[in-house]
Amino acid sequence: MVNSRIPGLKDLTLEERREIVAANSPLESADFAAWDPATALTLDQADHMIENVVGVLPIPVGFAANFTINGRDVLVPMATEEPSVVAAASNAARIARASGGFTTSSSDPIMRAQIQLVDVADPEAARLRLFEARDELIATANEQDPMLVTLGGGVRDIEVQLVEARTQTYVVLHLIVDVRDAMGANAVNTMAEALAERVGEIAQGRAILRILSNKADLRLARARAVFSAEQLGGEHIVDDIVHAAALAEADPYRAATHNKGATNGIIAVVLATGNDTRAVEAGIHSHAVRDGRYSSLTKFEKDANGDLVASLEVPMAVGLVGGATKVHPGAQAAVKMLGVTTASELAEVIAAVGLAQNVAGLRVLATEGVQRGHMSLHARNVAVSAGATTPEEITAVATRMVSEKAVRAERAAEILEELRRDGR
Ligand code: NAD
Repeated sequence: MVNSRIPGLKDLTLEERREIVAANSPLESADFAAWDPATALTLDQADHMIENVVGVLPIPVGFAANFTINGRDVLVPMATEEPSVVAAASNAARIARASGGFTTSSSDPIMRAQIQLVDVADPEAARLRLFEARDELIATANEQDPMLVTLGGGVRDIEVQLVEARTQTYVVLHLIVDVRDAMGANAVNTMAEALAERVGEIAQGRAILRILSNKADLRLARARAVFSAEQLGGEHIVDDIVHAAALAEADPYRAATHNKGATNGIIAVVLATGNDTRAVEAGIHSHAVRDGRYSSLTKFEKDANGDLVASLEVPMAVGLVGGATKVHPGAQAAVKMLGVTTASELAEVIAAVGLAQNVAGLRVLATEGVQRGHMSLHARNVAVSAGATTPEEITAVATRMVSEKAVRAERAAEILEELRRDGR
């Protein structure tokens, strides 16, 4: 029986953490090799992934604890270089857990591809000519990916938009495709390319661009959870979090940072599972500005009991097949840890993590501010950069800098020199 509630994590050794993960997820001890620098992604494997390879870049992989999603406990792999992110997500998940955890849902995994037509003399009539050819266009597109169709995916519909641009009115055909467990970019691009010439003929124009849209507004993942006022620190903190979120809803300057808080969690899981972080970011930010003004993605309310109710709905174009997901051993291990079997399940977990991350961030902002927590972690990095090597040295240098409120490289070097001189 998986139990994601793991108290006292920060005092465990890396080996003890691995044992706990192995006992509480589908991962086995051998799977951790995928994240060991000595046995992780090899140069040979990397050489097949991108061009002009000269090396690989290791990023720490941790796991968030305490998540219960739709009644199922899950440990969540997160790849990030930023201190505090994993601890903050686990912390918010612990609070949500006491009220039943996260409830998630998602739309079908539907992506759009666009075909841009130029020099169409009669855009309005061309639009209707394209709709008249709907069945033919869908059939030709589906012929490109029989595998996807067999799996229950394929083209669901077409849309035609007339886009008034600076140069002329473009006729833009959208292919609406269910991509099942793929992120879907290659799948829909292949379809769009195969259709372009015929679409140009029907519209009596010339096809130029044929590519998916990263505004994945038909592929939404949703998560909601209740955070008890008592566990957050009191009803006044709920009120202040609601104020903070209301500012983010109304003010783009605040919204950008607010959404960055959610993406700290979202992108860490997207990266850990080998998915395309840029595609997800592009989808999220295009969604945040869908009403014409950039706004926040998460919504915060106080319920009838005075508790905080948080919710999030975002485009989430992630897959379990294709791209790096199947070739990167670390990504495979991450998916195994999650125990998800469909791309939609993965998308929902990611939405829950984004929500937890946002709540954790706002809670800190509405109370003590971010610097205190950040500083102690940042101080450890500064200590290491200044040359501290043993765990004792790192802790001693970091603790001194934090207590002096002087987390700076030159102070770290001085403290280190002092410690070494005194033989400590
Ligand atoms: P893909 O083409 O490698 O895999 C998808 C194919 O796998 C499907 O077409 C289907 O034939 C097959 N398949 C097998 N099992 C499946 C299942 N259960 N569900 C669905 N399909 C299944 O990969 P993709 O997901 O189409 O493309 C993803 C890659 O495209 C990513 O690496 C991304 O970075 C890249 N990409 C992104 C953009 C963009 O975001 N703008 C543009 C071009 C390429």
